[in-house]
Order: sequence, then C-alpha cells, then structure tokens
Amino acid sequence: MPIYEYNAISDGCGYCRRGFEVLQKIGEDPLDRCPKCRGLVRRVPSPFRACVAETPEEAAKIESKIRDYEQEGMWSHAAETADKAGLDERAREDYKKAGYDM
Ligand SMILES: [Zn+2]
Repeated sequence: MPIYEYNAISDGCGYCRRGFEVLQKIGEDPLDRCPKCRGLVRRVPSPFRACVAETPEEAAKIESKIRDYEQEGMWSHAAETADKAGLDERAREDYKKAGYDM
C-alpha cells in the first residue's frame, strides 16, 4: 500500500503545515482536507516514489517486469510491482484481475 504525502495549501495547523503522510489504498480518493484542522491540503509526490524509477532505464525495467508478470497471469505480482513503482492505475487493474476488490 502506498504512502501519500500531503501538505497544506491554506494556512493550516502545525500538523499539515509541516506535511504529513497517509497510508491509502490504491484507488482511494486523495484527501483534500487536513484531518486535524480541516484546512485544504494537496498531495505531493513523495521522495520514495520518485526514487523508485529515477532513470528511463529503470522505468523500462520495471515496465517489462510488470509485463512479464501480466503475460504469465501473475496478476498479484504485477500489481505489487506496479504499486511499488507508483503506477496506481496499472496496479489497480492488476489487483482487479488478481481477484482483489479494490
Ligand atoms: Zn491542519
């Protein structure tokens, strides 16, 4: 399950001004409000996700790995790989094919 990072758009409180992280299911709607002060927040790309595939080579490697899994019908493996790489849409589709109800 990916961790999403949020920070405040408006003034916010100490919690969201500093930025906070939320563990969310794939396909879950992003938060638009701080759970503490209800101030507006936005999702920021997390450093973890950014470093998963920093180079085009790495991204291509991940992509071909997912494709291999998909071709063999190993949907949960494909989904997990996509999930870790931050490919939400792809992960969601593969999770569905794996029989998970997301
Ligand atoms: Zn807040």
